[in-house]
Amino acid sequence: MFDPASESFRQGTIHLDEARKAYADLCARGLSLDLTRGKPSPAQLDLSGPLLRLPAEGDVRAADGTDCRNYGGLRGLPELRAIFAELLRIPADQLLAAGNASLTLMHDIIVQAQLSPLPGAKRRWADEPEVLFLCPAPGYDRHFAITERFGIGMVPVELTGAGPDMAAVEKLVASDPRIKGMWCVPRYSNPTGEVYSDECVRRLAAMPTAAPDFRLFWDDAYAVHHLTEERIEIPPILSACEESGNPDRAFVFASTSKITMAGSGVAFVGSSPANIEWLLGLMAKQTIGPDKINQLRHVRFFGDADGVRRHMERHRELLRPKFAAVYEVLEAELGPYGIAEWTTPKGGYFLSLHVPDGCAREVVRLAGQAGVALTPAGAAFPLGQDPRDRHIRLAPSFPSVDDVREAMHAVAICVRLAVAEQTAANAKA
Ligand code: PMP
Repeated sequence: MFDPASESFRQGTIHLDEARKAYADLCARGLSLDLTRGKPSPAQLDLSGPLLRLPAEGDVRAADGTDCRNYGGLRGLPELRAIFAELLRIPADQLLAAGNASLTLMHDIIVQAQLSPLPGAKRRWADEPEVLFLCPAPGYDRHFAITERFGIGMVPVELTGAGPDMAAVEKLVASDPRIKGMWCVPRYSNPTGEVYSDECVRRLAAMPTAAPDFRLFWDDAYAVHHLTEERIEIPPILSACEESGNPDRAFVFASTSKITMAGSGVAFVGSSPANIEWLLGLMAKQTIGPDKINQLRHVRFFGDADGVRRHMERHRELLRPKFAAVYEVLEAELGPYGIAEWTTPKGGYFLSLHVPDGCAREVVRLAGQAGVALTPAGAAFPLGQDPRDRHIRLAPSFPSVDDVREAMHAVAICVRLAVAEQTAANAKA
């Protein structure tokens, strides 16, 4: 992770008048571009077009003879679970295939933990005087929205470029029994794109926690979303937890939202046998079973885990040029000034742009005024508060390559203006 306090982060070479003029010209162009959310583009969704014709009429039986049109099968289709068990490196009998959104699973497990004690818990979370979650930040705003919704206090933890600051995490969880959970996006993290190191994963699995019912909410949303030829693997968290004598420590989440059709995919949750039994008992009160026709459609479409891997290569071909366009413009238009740094993820959907302290909000405001919508500054931090006001999340997946280039050109103009204005204001003060 770069250090904005370092020598490379110098300011002062931008001429304010030029920056103002460039911005006025930009506004005059009347752009309307959106880099806010990490949605798949229409071309990516087209890759899954055949899903809309699957399963064929009459093709309704799962491998074990189950009629997928009917009720039942709470764990999800065994053949789909087998495919994702291989990809996620989770034993298939510890992996459930559920509804269309992993976010729902995360939300519901937090609700269930409030209402029914987790395995190993002294009491349900609703009866605790206070519940806290560790939140590596910058992180995923929708995670933080769930914990905020349930009055769970959020404790930010810094990311290092190879996962959270483990010394800080270990110290906090060892001493504070109020800390019941931790949000983790271990691979191609949203938004920095970083990957947790093997050491980090092992320490998270092994660290002593004051709360007996502490859980990692391990969101492996980007497990197969590689942007380079390197398919980065991390140690499987469930095995690491088991080997460390903490078998019930992690719930693992994933989905096909960014593999097939976002909103019409299949979500997965994996955990220890005890956690899975706890969850199944509670889910049985919510549903008689998931949408097995959708699950069968996905089985027919992929065939096997290699089918998923091949499909992801095609996503990569569409996504890579967009990330490349971001880097190209940032390097050309901000690089020479040394006023910003950005991450270059090897996978996932996002990258982080860091501008000088106190400038992020202004950059997002200027961009919005010029017709380029960016994720609100601060959104990637608990309660929307970036303590240094320097982080901007960029999501290049949805617009065309040309639009990404155009939007980044606009962002560069806004960064230069915000920094030049700040420098001028500081000089006056
Ligand atoms: N987790 C992360 C880290 C994400 O970035 C996203 C989508 N932006 C999701 C979960 C949402 O997943 P789902 O569609 O399965 O709810």
